[in-house]
Amino acid sequence: MYKERLKMKLNEKQIAQVDAQIKRLLNTDSYYGRVYREAGITGCTCQEDFEKIPFSSKDDLRNAYPLGIQAVPDEEVVRIHSSSGTTGKPVIIPYTAKDVDDWAIMFARCYETAGITNKDRIHITPGYGLWTAGIGFQAGAEKLGAMAIPMGPGNTEKQLQMMVDLKSTVICATSSYALLLAEEIDKRGMKDQICLTKGVIGSERWSEKKREYIREKLGIELYDIYGLTEIYGPGIGVNCPDQEGMHYWDDYLYIEIIDPVTGEQVPDGEKGEIVITTLVKEGAPLLRFRTHDLSRIIPGECTCGRSYPRLDIIDGRSDDMFKVHGVNMFPSQVEEVLSQIDGVSSEYQINIAHDDEKNRDVMLITAEAEGRVNFEATAKAITALFKSRMSVTPKVTVVPVGTLPRSEKKTKRVIDHRD
Ligand SMILES: [Zn+2]
Repeated sequence: MYKERLKMKLNEKQIAQVDAQIKRLLNTDSYYGRVYREAGITGCTCQEDFEKIPFSSKDDLRNAYPLGIQAVPDEEVVRIHSSSGTTGKPVIIPYTAKDVDDWAIMFARCYETAGITNKDRIHITPGYGLWTAGIGFQAGAEKLGAMAIPMGPGNTEKQLQMMVDLKSTVICATSSYALLLAEEIDKRGMKDQICLTKGVIGSERWSEKKREYIREKLGIELYDIYGLTEIYGPGIGVNCPDQEGMHYWDDYLYIEIIDPVTGEQVPDGEKGEIVITTLVKEGAPLLRFRTHDLSRIIPGECTCGRSYPRLDIIDGRSDDMFKVHGVNMFPSQVEEVLSQIDGVSSEYQINIAHDDEKNRDVMLITAEAEGRVNFEATAKAITALFKSRMSVTPKVTVVPVGTLPRSEKKTKRVIDHRD
């Protein structure tokens, strides 16, 4: 017998908040005000109404460039942020004073959930500027009352000096920058000189191998923090010490998981694309925004006792999928293969090209390995495992650990040269 599976639903308060967002947008000349007027949307009184609201997307935000999505008068906007796409126009997001404050409140809650207090010294390495990263980590630290150390990225020498002299207790970084620092601290034998106890790492999909390496070399607990520029920035969700997925703040956001192909909501526990609705955002409210991040709602209550709902760790992006010889692949599968081979690091790069003469795709993998293993044999082992798992035979080059770039931003791992 068919049994209805549970799906995350809006509660009454959230429905009223969405209704208020729609009514306010309809009264503006903003991009979404026009979209909803044309679609005949007048408000939201129940879950069914909500599910009739069209999805919003990054393409909309590009179409509305520069400030078409602004939903308040100019005098209420106190700041903008921007996310640069790899293609096309950037996206500009305007914030009111309340938006900026709400974001800091959410971020401070993330730190608190990770057990960070006002006695901590928070070493912030993500970049400052148009990007939402650095300033988000900073505002959250100040809201918490902790000491923010606004390093920004780069200059490893200075990072380590400040980390030692100021006795930083928390490191905030992307996973690849945290890896670079961990490698550097290991190389210099500095583990005893640093006081780090926790790492707050911007959530992208990163391998268990990398996690383990950073955890061990720095001797710290790791927390994934989730967020995206379109929806405030980082700080909308974080792990708790029980480490079973990330709690997110449902007094600010409603999250649904959809099948990325059909757009249908999937039951709690099933994997799909994260779609976010802002409930109280003023400057640029977004309803049903498709993030392209893949994850799932974790059903049931967390053992930590917090009642905030949970998302699983981000498991890649729906647009990260690539095709070689007609086989669909995700970077997570590549990582899975590499993690099976002795001495291979978590870093890799894939180049895909088309061999016109033979009329076939060529997949080139560059992987890193430790000096103690034979590079040629390692390359052969990777090729063989790849062939057996994915039915694709890549050309594999093995280089020493540290050769591939460690970036302060999300690392681009797949470069497609086919056009
Ligand atoms: Zn928890």
